[in-house]
Amino acid sequence: MHRLAPLLSWIIILPASASGGDPVAAVVDSTLGTAGDRIRQYAFDGDDATSYATSATPGENDSVSLVFDEPVLVKSVEVRTGGPDGAGRLDVGSLEGSSDGKSFERLAGFGDGLAKAEPGRALRAIRVLPGKDAKGPLAVREIVVDSEPALKRFAYPVEVVVDEVDAPAMRGWAENAAKACERSYGLINEALRSDGFRAARVIRLSLKDGIDVPAFASGNRITGSVKWFQDHPDDVGAMIHETTHVVQRYRGRGNPGWLVEGVADYVRFILYEPQNIGGLNPRTARYDQSYRVTARFLDYINRKYDKEFVLKLNRAMRRGDYSDDLFKESTGKSKAELGEEWRATLQK
Ligand SMILES: [Zn+2]
Repeated sequence: MHRLAPLLSWIIILPASASGGDPVAAVVDSTLGTAGDRIRQYAFDGDDATSYATSATPGENDSVSLVFDEPVLVKSVEVRTGGPDGAGRLDVGSLEGSSDGKSFERLAGFGDGLAKAEPGRALRAIRVLPGKDAKGPLAVREIVVDSEPALKRFAYPVEVVVDEVDAPAMRGWAENAAKACERSYGLINEALRSDGFRAARVIRLSLKDGIDVPAFASGNRITGSVKWFQDHPDDVGAMIHETTHVVQRYRGRGNPGWLVEGVADYVRFILYEPQNIGGLNPRTARYDQSYRVTARFLDYINRKYDKEFVLKLNRAMRRGDYSDDLFKESTGKSKAELGEEWRATLQK
Protein backbone atom coordinates (compact mmCIF):
# COMPACT_ATOMS: atom_id res chain seq x y z
CA MET A 1 0.00 0.00 0.00
CA HIS A 2 2.85 2.33 0.83
CA ARG A 3 4.20 2.17 -2.67
CA LEU A 4 0.92 3.60 -3.92
CA ALA A 5 1.12 6.72 -1.84
CA PRO A 6 3.19 8.88 -4.23
CA LEU A 7 0.93 7.88 -7.10
CA LEU A 8 -2.20 8.73 -5.14
CA SER A 9 -0.97 12.15 -4.19
CA TRP A 10 -0.13 12.79 -7.82
CA ILE A 11 -3.64 11.83 -8.85
CA ILE A 12 -5.14 14.09 -6.21
CA ILE A 13 -2.94 17.07 -6.97
CA LEU A 14 -3.34 16.98 -10.74
CA PRO A 15 -7.06 17.76 -11.05
CA ALA A 16 -6.81 20.49 -8.43
CA SER A 17 -4.10 22.34 -10.32
CA ALA A 18 -5.68 21.77 -13.72
CA SER A 19 -9.32 22.51 -12.93
CA GLY A 20 -9.03 26.27 -12.43
CA GLY A 21 -12.34 26.70 -10.65
CA ASP A 22 -15.96 25.61 -10.87
CA PRO A 23 -17.44 24.84 -14.28
CA VAL A 24 -19.03 27.86 -15.92
CA ALA A 25 -22.63 27.66 -17.12
CA ALA A 26 -23.53 28.41 -20.72
CA VAL A 27 -26.67 29.04 -22.75
CA VAL A 28 -27.43 27.93 -26.29
CA ASP A 29 -29.07 30.78 -28.18
CA SER A 30 -30.48 30.70 -31.67
CA THR A 31 -32.04 33.25 -33.97
CA LEU A 32 -34.01 30.35 -35.46
CA GLY A 33 -36.72 28.19 -33.94
CA THR A 34 -36.50 24.56 -32.93
CA ALA A 35 -37.63 21.69 -35.14
CA GLY A 36 -39.94 19.52 -33.04
CA ASP A 37 -38.21 18.07 -30.01
CA ARG A 38 -34.66 18.53 -31.31
CA ILE A 39 -34.00 21.20 -28.72
CA ARG A 40 -31.20 23.77 -28.55
CA GLN A 41 -29.46 22.26 -25.53
CA TYR A 42 -28.79 19.07 -27.52
CA ALA A 43 -25.99 21.08 -29.18
CA PHE A 44 -24.12 21.05 -25.88
CA ASP A 45 -25.12 17.93 -23.96
CA GLY A 46 -22.00 15.84 -24.54
CA ASP A 47 -24.03 13.36 -26.58
CA ASP A 48 -23.21 12.96 -30.27
CA ALA A 49 -26.42 11.03 -30.84
CA THR A 50 -28.63 14.09 -30.26
CA SER A 51 -28.64 17.32 -32.20
CA TYR A 52 -30.30 20.72 -32.24
CA ALA A 53 -32.23 21.20 -35.47
CA THR A 54 -33.36 24.63 -36.63
CA SER A 55 -36.95 24.99 -37.76
CA ALA A 56 -35.96 26.90 -40.91
CA THR A 57 -33.12 27.36 -43.37
CA PRO A 58 -30.69 29.93 -41.95
CA GLY A 59 -30.46 33.28 -43.67
CA GLU A 60 -27.50 35.59 -43.90
CA ASN A 61 -27.84 36.97 -40.36
CA ASP A 62 -28.92 33.84 -38.53
CA SER A 63 -26.70 32.19 -35.98
CA VAL A 64 -26.54 29.57 -33.25
CA SER A 65 -24.42 30.62 -30.31
CA LEU A 66 -23.06 29.26 -27.08
CA VAL A 67 -22.81 32.12 -24.58
CA PHE A 68 -20.83 31.57 -21.39
CA ASP A 69 -21.80 33.16 -18.05
CA GLU A 70 -18.27 34.54 -17.83
CA PRO A 71 -15.22 34.51 -20.08
CA VAL A 72 -13.19 31.28 -20.14
CA LEU A 73 -9.84 30.52 -21.71
CA VAL A 74 -10.79 28.52 -24.80
CA LYS A 75 -7.99 26.19 -25.81
CA SER A 76 -9.93 24.48 -28.55
CA VAL A 77 -13.42 24.37 -29.96
CA GLU A 78 -14.99 21.97 -32.40
CA VAL A 79 -18.48 22.19 -33.85
CA ARG A 80 -19.97 19.04 -35.38
CA THR A 81 -23.03 19.44 -37.56
CA GLY A 82 -25.48 17.10 -39.23
CA GLY A 83 -28.10 14.83 -37.70
CA PRO A 84 -28.06 11.03 -37.62
CA ASP A 85 -29.05 10.81 -41.29
CA GLY A 86 -26.55 13.49 -42.30
CA ALA A 87 -29.28 16.08 -42.83
CA GLY A 88 -28.49 19.58 -41.63
CA ARG A 89 -24.78 19.23 -42.23
CA LEU A 90 -23.00 22.51 -42.71
CA ASP A 91 -20.36 22.79 -45.42
CA VAL A 92 -20.35 26.57 -45.68
CA GLY A 93 -20.26 29.41 -43.19
CA SER A 94 -18.02 30.10 -40.27
CA LEU A 95 -17.31 29.54 -36.62
CA GLU A 96 -16.78 32.79 -34.74
CA GLY A 97 -15.62 33.79 -31.27
CA SER A 98 -16.24 36.84 -29.11
CA SER A 99 -14.41 38.11 -26.07
CA ASP A 100 -17.29 40.33 -24.93
CA GLY A 101 -20.31 38.41 -26.23
CA LYS A 102 -21.12 41.24 -28.64
CA SER A 103 -18.56 41.60 -31.42
CA PHE A 104 -17.45 38.40 -33.11
CA GLU A 105 -14.50 37.46 -35.26
CA ARG A 106 -13.90 34.44 -37.43
CA LEU A 107 -12.15 31.44 -35.89
CA ALA A 108 -12.55 28.87 -38.66
CA GLY A 109 -14.63 27.87 -41.67
CA PHE A 110 -16.89 24.84 -42.03
CA GLY A 111 -15.97 21.93 -44.25
CA ASP A 112 -17.37 18.39 -44.27
CA GLY A 113 -19.80 19.40 -41.56
CA LEU A 114 -17.07 20.37 -39.14
CA ALA A 115 -15.28 23.48 -37.87
CA LYS A 116 -12.30 23.43 -35.54
CA ALA A 117 -10.21 26.15 -33.98
CA GLU A 118 -7.64 26.67 -31.25
CA PRO A 119 -8.23 30.27 -30.13
CA GLY A 120 -5.99 30.05 -27.03
CA ARG A 121 -7.59 33.14 -25.51
CA ALA A 122 -10.44 34.24 -23.27
CA LEU A 123 -13.84 34.14 -24.96
CA ARG A 124 -17.32 34.94 -23.74
CA ALA A 125 -19.19 33.29 -26.62
CA ILE A 126 -18.81 31.34 -29.81
CA ARG A 127 -21.28 31.13 -32.66
CA VAL A 128 -22.04 29.28 -35.84
CA LEU A 129 -22.83 31.60 -38.72
CA PRO A 130 -24.09 29.51 -41.64
CA GLY A 131 -24.22 32.51 -44.00
CA LYS A 132 -26.46 33.01 -46.99
CA ASP A 133 -25.45 29.81 -48.77
CA ALA A 134 -26.94 27.30 -46.33
CA LYS A 135 -29.14 24.88 -48.27
CA GLY A 136 -31.55 23.75 -45.60
CA PRO A 137 -32.23 23.73 -41.86
CA LEU A 138 -29.13 23.32 -39.73
CA ALA A 139 -28.43 20.51 -37.26
CA VAL A 140 -25.78 21.17 -34.60
CA ARG A 141 -24.80 17.80 -33.22
CA GLU A 142 -22.24 18.84 -30.65
CA ILE A 143 -20.13 21.78 -29.65
CA VAL A 144 -16.97 20.54 -27.94
CA VAL A 145 -15.03 23.12 -25.95
CA ASP A 146 -11.79 22.53 -24.10
CA SER A 147 -11.48 25.47 -21.75
CA GLU A 148 -10.20 26.73 -18.45
CA PRO A 149 -12.33 26.65 -16.36
CA ALA A 150 -14.43 23.98 -18.03
CA LEU A 151 -17.94 24.73 -19.25
CA LYS A 152 -20.95 22.97 -17.75
CA ARG A 153 -22.68 20.85 -20.38
CA PHE A 154 -26.39 20.10 -20.20
CA ALA A 155 -26.76 16.84 -18.31
CA TYR A 156 -30.55 17.32 -18.37
CA PRO A 157 -31.34 19.05 -21.65
CA VAL A 158 -34.65 20.88 -21.81
CA GLU A 159 -36.45 23.56 -23.72
CA VAL A 160 -39.19 25.57 -22.09
CA VAL A 161 -41.31 26.82 -24.95
CA VAL A 162 -43.56 29.81 -24.41
CA ASP A 163 -46.95 28.99 -25.87
CA GLU A 164 -50.00 31.16 -25.48
CA VAL A 165 -49.76 34.41 -23.57
CA ASP A 166 -53.13 36.10 -23.14
CA ALA A 167 -51.52 39.51 -22.46
CA PRO A 168 -49.03 40.44 -25.21
CA ALA A 169 -47.16 42.74 -22.79
CA MET A 170 -46.36 39.70 -20.62
CA ARG A 171 -44.64 37.69 -23.36
CA GLY A 172 -41.23 39.07 -22.43
CA TRP A 173 -41.80 38.12 -18.81
CA ALA A 174 -42.80 34.61 -19.88
CA GLU A 175 -39.67 34.27 -22.07
CA ASN A 176 -37.48 35.29 -19.13
CA ALA A 177 -39.24 32.88 -16.79
CA ALA A 178 -38.78 30.10 -19.36
CA LYS A 179 -35.05 30.85 -19.46
CA ALA A 180 -34.85 30.73 -15.65
CA CYS A 181 -36.59 27.34 -15.67
CA GLU A 182 -34.20 26.02 -18.35
CA ARG A 183 -31.25 27.29 -16.35
CA SER A 184 -32.46 25.60 -13.16
CA TYR A 185 -33.35 22.29 -14.78
CA GLY A 186 -30.03 20.69 -13.82
CA LEU A 187 -30.49 21.72 -10.19
CA ILE A 188 -34.05 20.37 -10.09
CA ASN A 189 -33.15 17.09 -11.78
CA GLU A 190 -30.12 16.52 -9.57
CA ALA A 191 -32.26 17.07 -6.47
CA LEU A 192 -34.88 14.61 -7.77
CA ARG A 193 -32.72 12.05 -9.56
CA SER A 194 -33.64 8.38 -9.52
CA ASP A 195 -32.38 5.39 -11.47
CA GLY A 196 -33.80 5.01 -14.94
CA PHE A 197 -35.81 8.22 -14.77
CA ARG A 198 -35.67 10.68 -17.63
CA ALA A 199 -37.44 13.99 -17.22
CA ALA A 200 -39.35 15.83 -19.94
CA ARG A 201 -37.20 17.45 -22.62
CA VAL A 202 -39.83 19.89 -23.83
CA ILE A 203 -42.04 21.87 -21.45
CA ARG A 204 -44.72 24.29 -22.62
CA LEU A 205 -45.46 27.41 -20.64
CA SER A 206 -48.54 29.58 -21.03
CA LEU A 207 -49.93 32.62 -19.26
CA LYS A 208 -53.69 32.83 -19.23
CA ASP A 209 -56.53 34.98 -18.01
CA GLY A 210 -59.02 33.63 -15.52
CA ILE A 211 -56.68 31.28 -13.64
CA ASP A 212 -57.57 31.31 -9.95
CA VAL A 213 -54.17 30.11 -8.66
CA PRO A 214 -50.76 31.71 -9.46
CA ALA A 215 -49.76 28.72 -11.59
CA PHE A 216 -50.20 24.98 -12.03
CA ALA A 217 -48.53 22.12 -13.85
CA SER A 218 -50.19 19.31 -15.74
CA GLY A 219 -48.02 16.73 -17.47
CA ASN A 220 -45.36 18.70 -19.32
CA ARG A 221 -47.37 21.90 -19.38
CA ILE A 222 -47.19 24.86 -17.04
CA THR A 223 -49.95 27.44 -16.96
CA GLY A 224 -49.66 30.69 -15.07
CA SER A 225 -52.12 33.46 -14.28
CA VAL A 226 -51.57 36.65 -16.29
CA LYS A 227 -52.92 38.72 -13.42
CA TRP A 228 -50.75 37.06 -10.76
CA PHE A 229 -47.51 37.60 -12.66
CA GLN A 230 -48.48 41.12 -13.71
CA ASP A 231 -48.91 41.88 -9.99
CA HIS A 232 -45.93 39.76 -8.86
CA PRO A 233 -43.27 40.00 -11.59
CA ASP A 234 -40.56 38.92 -9.13
CA ASP A 235 -42.27 35.59 -8.51
CA VAL A 236 -40.23 33.61 -11.07
CA GLY A 237 -39.71 31.08 -8.27
CA ALA A 238 -43.36 30.04 -8.68
CA MET A 239 -42.40 28.79 -12.16
CA ILE A 240 -39.44 26.90 -10.67
CA HIS A 241 -41.94 25.27 -8.30
CA GLU A 242 -44.12 24.25 -11.26
CA THR A 243 -41.12 23.01 -13.23
CA THR A 244 -40.31 20.84 -10.23
CA HIS A 245 -43.80 19.32 -10.47
CA VAL A 246 -43.11 18.46 -14.12
CA VAL A 247 -39.89 16.73 -13.06
CA GLN A 248 -41.52 14.97 -10.09
CA ARG A 249 -43.92 13.22 -12.44
CA TYR A 250 -45.62 11.45 -9.55
CA ARG A 251 -48.30 9.13 -10.84
CA GLY A 252 -49.13 7.38 -7.57
CA ARG A 253 -52.38 8.29 -5.90
CA GLY A 254 -51.12 7.48 -2.42
CA ASN A 255 -48.73 10.42 -2.25
CA PRO A 256 -49.66 12.88 0.49
CA GLY A 257 -50.33 16.30 -1.02
CA TRP A 258 -48.39 18.12 1.70
CA LEU A 259 -45.26 16.12 0.80
CA VAL A 260 -45.67 16.60 -2.95
CA GLU A 261 -45.86 20.36 -2.38
CA GLY A 262 -43.21 20.22 0.33
CA VAL A 263 -40.71 18.62 -2.05
CA ALA A 264 -41.54 21.18 -4.76
CA ASP A 265 -40.93 24.01 -2.32
CA TYR A 266 -37.84 22.26 -0.96
CA VAL A 267 -36.35 22.59 -4.44
CA ARG A 268 -37.60 26.14 -4.75
CA PHE A 269 -36.82 27.61 -1.33
CA ILE A 270 -34.01 25.47 0.05
CA LEU A 271 -32.06 25.06 -3.19
CA TYR A 272 -33.13 27.71 -5.72
CA GLU A 273 -33.94 30.84 -3.73
CA PRO A 274 -33.19 30.32 -0.02
CA GLN A 275 -33.02 34.09 0.46
CA ASN A 276 -36.76 34.32 -0.25
CA ILE A 277 -38.13 31.66 2.08
CA GLY A 278 -39.29 34.26 4.61
CA GLY A 279 -40.10 33.77 8.27
CA LEU A 280 -42.44 31.34 9.96
CA ASN A 281 -44.40 31.27 13.18
CA PRO A 282 -42.84 28.69 15.52
CA ARG A 283 -46.07 28.43 17.51
CA THR A 284 -48.29 27.45 14.62
CA ALA A 285 -45.80 25.78 12.26
CA ARG A 286 -46.66 22.16 11.54
CA TYR A 287 -44.51 19.68 9.62
CA ASP A 288 -47.46 18.78 7.39
CA GLN A 289 -48.43 22.37 6.68
CA SER A 290 -47.28 21.84 3.08
CA TYR A 291 -45.30 24.18 0.80
CA ARG A 292 -42.40 26.09 2.33
CA VAL A 293 -43.10 25.07 5.92
CA THR A 294 -42.83 21.40 5.02
CA ALA A 295 -39.80 22.32 2.88
CA ARG A 296 -38.06 23.51 6.05
CA PHE A 297 -39.03 20.31 7.85
CA LEU A 298 -37.57 18.19 5.03
CA ASP A 299 -34.41 20.29 5.09
CA TYR A 300 -34.13 19.62 8.84
CA ILE A 301 -34.31 15.83 8.29
CA ASN A 302 -31.91 16.03 5.36
CA ARG A 303 -29.37 17.91 7.45
CA LYS A 304 -29.74 16.14 10.77
CA TYR A 305 -30.46 12.52 9.83
CA ASP A 306 -30.07 11.55 6.21
CA LYS A 307 -28.75 13.78 3.45
CA GLU A 308 -30.52 11.55 0.93
CA PHE A 309 -33.91 11.78 2.59
CA VAL A 310 -35.51 13.99 -0.04
CA LEU A 311 -34.04 11.77 -2.78
CA LYS A 312 -35.56 8.70 -1.13
CA LEU A 313 -38.89 10.43 -0.62
CA ASN A 314 -38.92 11.50 -4.26
CA ARG A 315 -38.01 8.04 -5.48
CA ALA A 316 -40.81 6.43 -3.50
CA MET A 317 -43.41 8.99 -4.58
CA ARG A 318 -42.31 8.65 -8.20
CA ARG A 319 -42.64 4.88 -8.03
CA GLY A 320 -45.95 5.18 -6.23
CA ASP A 321 -44.90 3.17 -3.18
CA TYR A 322 -44.65 5.95 -0.61
CA SER A 323 -45.18 4.95 2.99
CA ASP A 324 -44.81 6.80 6.30
CA ASP A 325 -42.22 4.14 7.19
CA LEU A 326 -39.71 6.12 5.13
CA PHE A 327 -39.36 8.56 8.00
CA LYS A 328 -38.61 5.75 10.43
CA GLU A 329 -36.15 4.06 8.08
CA SER A 330 -34.07 7.21 7.74
CA THR A 331 -34.35 8.59 11.27
CA GLY A 332 -35.68 5.90 13.63
CA LYS A 333 -38.57 8.23 14.43
CA SER A 334 -42.13 8.71 13.23
CA LYS A 335 -43.03 11.80 11.24
CA ALA A 336 -45.07 13.12 14.18
CA GLU A 337 -42.11 12.70 16.54
CA LEU A 338 -39.84 14.40 14.04
CA GLY A 339 -42.39 17.17 13.63
CA GLU A 340 -42.35 17.91 17.37
CA GLU A 341 -38.56 17.72 17.51
CA TRP A 342 -38.26 20.11 14.55
CA ARG A 343 -40.78 22.55 16.04
CA ALA A 344 -38.82 22.66 19.30
CA THR A 345 -35.75 23.82 17.36
CA LEU A 346 -37.75 26.74 15.93
CA GLN A 347 -38.62 28.11 19.35
CA LYS A 348 -35.04 28.51 20.46
ZN1 LIG B 1 -47.38 22.97 -6.28
